Amino acid sequence: MADVPALHGGAPVRPRMLPYGHQWVDEEDVAAVAGVLMSDYLTTGPAVRAFEEAFAARVGARHAVAVSSGTAALHAAVHAAGLQPGDEGITTPLTFAADANAILYEGGSPVFADVEPDTLLIAPAEVERRVTPQTKLLIAVDYAGQPVEIALLKEIAARRGLVFIEDACHAVGARYEGRPVGSLADMTVFSFHPVKHVTTAEGGMVTTDDDSLARRLRVFRNHGITSTPGERTTWEYEMVDLGYNYRLSDVHSALGLAQLRRLDAFIERRREIAAAYDRALEKTPGLRRPVVAPGRDHVWHLYVVQLDLPRLGADRAEIFAALRAENIGVNVHYIPVPHHPYYRERFGLGPGACPVADAAYERIVTLPIFPKMSPADVEDVITAVQKVLVWYRR
Ligand SMILES: *Cc1c(COP(=O)(O)O)cnc(C)c1O
Repeated sequence: MADVPALHGGAPVRPRMLPYGHQWVDEEDVAAVAGVLMSDYLTTGPAVRAFEEAFAARVGARHAVAVSSGTAALHAAVHAAGLQPGDEGITTPLTFAADANAILYEGGSPVFADVEPDTLLIAPAEVERRVTPQTKLLIAVDYAGQPVEIALLKEIAARRGLVFIEDACHAVGARYEGRPVGSLADMTVFSFHPVKHVTTAEGGMVTTDDDSLARRLRVFRNHGITSTPGERTTWEYEMVDLGYNYRLSDVHSALGLAQLRRLDAFIERRREIAAAYDRALEKTPGLRRPVVAPGRDHVWHLYVVQLDLPRLGADRAEIFAALRAENIGVNVHYIPVPHHPYYRERFGLGPGACPVADAAYERIVTLPIFPKMSPADVEDVITAVQKVLVWYRR
């Protein structure tokens, strides 16, 4: 007799909800933040510089430009790429809305290229198919923490004259054929939201090896002004571009710098959890585990399973509700961007625009994964997934 799921009146696997992601802030982080709060500089000071330098060194880039969020980082990268009104930018449907939105902020048109059915990463052949004379740039997302097919995408970008922006909000510390993400695309974008690998509460970064792109990014995050107060000896300054206040404060940067020291430990723990899920779920009926392509060092921001719906007597909504009833805080990453009302109404998109992503969207469930999870939390997730899928197995 199978265990009765909590959704159908059984006892839940655990008494309290386990979130899908959570930060890990410790005493050293608090001390670093407190130190900056009592210093002379709360913003545009030495902690920002120190965080940028440490981050650039970590990802092997010449420049790192800190900004106020991952979304600001995307906006700055699209601006620095020189996208003009009427230009097109290609991106993936299976991501957070910020990627396509960043193209819209600068007056461009987002064009969605479908994903690979196994890895759910943007498909290079689909990118190639979508390039037109109006295409200015490509934003490819390292979905779940797995680097995109960088060599092929770089080759397409070079041949078709596109700026290649890598959205590595899920992938700080990841590697592609041994080389760190952050050193490979024309510009790479990171987020420090609390669910990401390293947090500054809110924050983001753009890395690049290109001096002139770095200069444009720095000016853009500071209202389009070419100098900061600390760099000036007189009252004079020049606004040369229309920018924004997208600065990251020294308080946030101090937290980021302290967190960055623990990045390797955070990644190691995420890998252990992913490996535990892989082992336990190998023989669980009704799901497919995440697929890792050759040459990728995956850093497991998300652990996304694909339900094998023909083998289950329920749809994703019911499996999702059943797992939540067990107090497992599963999630779905992502509602395809073309499905959102704004994109449907303004661009006539919706389901059908990217059939592989549309089909994947019906099957995907994100299991909790974050470094602070205890071994008992990991066991609870495994127990609940097995309990629910065995119950619904046909
Ligand atoms: C988190 C995230 C963003 C946005 O970052 P914020 O810091 O929340 O603005 C953009 N793209 C992807 C893929 C993300 O996961």
